[in-house]
Amino acid sequence: MRMAHTITLLPGDGIGPEVVDGTLRVLEATGIAFAWDRFDEVGAAALEKFGTPLPEPILDSIRTNKIALKGPITTPVGTGFRSVNVTLRQRLDLYANVRPCSSLAGIETPFRDVDLIIFRENTEGLYSGIENYDPRLEIADSIARITRRGSQRIIRFCFEYARKHGRKRVTLVHKANILKETSGMFLHLGREMAESYPDLAFEDRIIDNMCMQLVMRPNRYDCIVTTNLFGDILSDLCAGLVGGLGVVAGANIGDAYAVFEAVHGSAPDIADQNKANPTALVRTAEMMLRHLGERRAADAIRQSLVEVYEEGTHLTGDVGGSCSTTEFADHLATRVASRMGG
Ligand code: NAD
Repeated sequence: MRMAHTITLLPGDGIGPEVVDGTLRVLEATGIAFAWDRFDEVGAAALEKFGTPLPEPILDSIRTNKIALKGPITTPVGTGFRSVNVTLRQRLDLYANVRPCSSLAGIETPFRDVDLIIFRENTEGLYSGIENYDPRLEIADSIARITRRGSQRIIRFCFEYARKHGRKRVTLVHKANILKETSGMFLHLGREMAESYPDLAFEDRIIDNMCMQLVMRPNRYDCIVTTNLFGDILSDLCAGLVGGLGVVAGANIGDAYAVFEAVHGSAPDIADQNKANPTALVRTAEMMLRHLGERRAADAIRQSLVEVYEEGTHLTGDVGGSCSTTEFADHLATRVASRMGG
């Protein structure tokens, strides 16, 4: 018998536990054995129980297992504790946030055949956590610190990924006309590195122009590499091009560990109503299976998803259907099981 994959599981809060439950049903249907090292309390719940939103045993578990599957975690807006999501990425040095945005037949959108991958730098920039408020002068600062090493490794990650996966074009997104030091360095390093990848087309775009380009002709773009804040914003924009946050996957990858989580947040507006779309996390789990070398199961999930969306009879409300989270997940799981011969 094959050994089970041991994976740290963080269901998160808001819609997290619902979409995680749906995703686990689909993963179970592959027949692959998983041993879940599960932590139900993280974020506000952990703060209340353990006095910290990110208890150290969670980090220890990921360091041991090297891999985690994670639901969204709420971050208080404007006040309160620092984002657990950002802290996790920085503490584990998960520098590459990889977010594929591709069209699914069956979802009505203005564009067909969108196939983009965003590579967002995940540990630096405006999310470095270097913030200060001087109450005497009433001045607030947030420092967008980026490093040469941090920029080079995300740009290299993007080029290497593009080459390995037969992609054609890399677009580096920046604001180097205004932010001459930070964005300027990022652009300079990208141009320098592009010379080592003559097989890939390379270009750059200023962030504001890129937003317009993406909503007018997304099919023109392929791999997009950018700094932390621009990547965060472009990810949601691109999610909107392919059906919304309910369908877009993501992965946080470093040299030692990987944490798989969808792009979306905890969606408090629809939490605890069994109506969130688990597709984003299912596609995230598919990325995780490929990372684990479980190609057959990953292909089964991908093909089953395409089938279910093409049929269009069992979809959740955000993409025009009327199914609950669990109905959708069970329907998909049945397809996956039959593809895997279960
Ligand atoms: P959000 O992604 O939670 O929701 C934005 C909109 O998309 C909402 O209308 C929501 O209903 C919808 N949506 C999101 N996921 C969906 C799904 N799976 N199915 C159907 N509809 C879905 O963004 P927000 O409202 O800006 O943030 C809410 C909270 O989530 C905040 O505390 C934020 O900090 C946190 N957040 C966490 C992560 C993470 O854990 N990685 C990421 C983004 C936001």
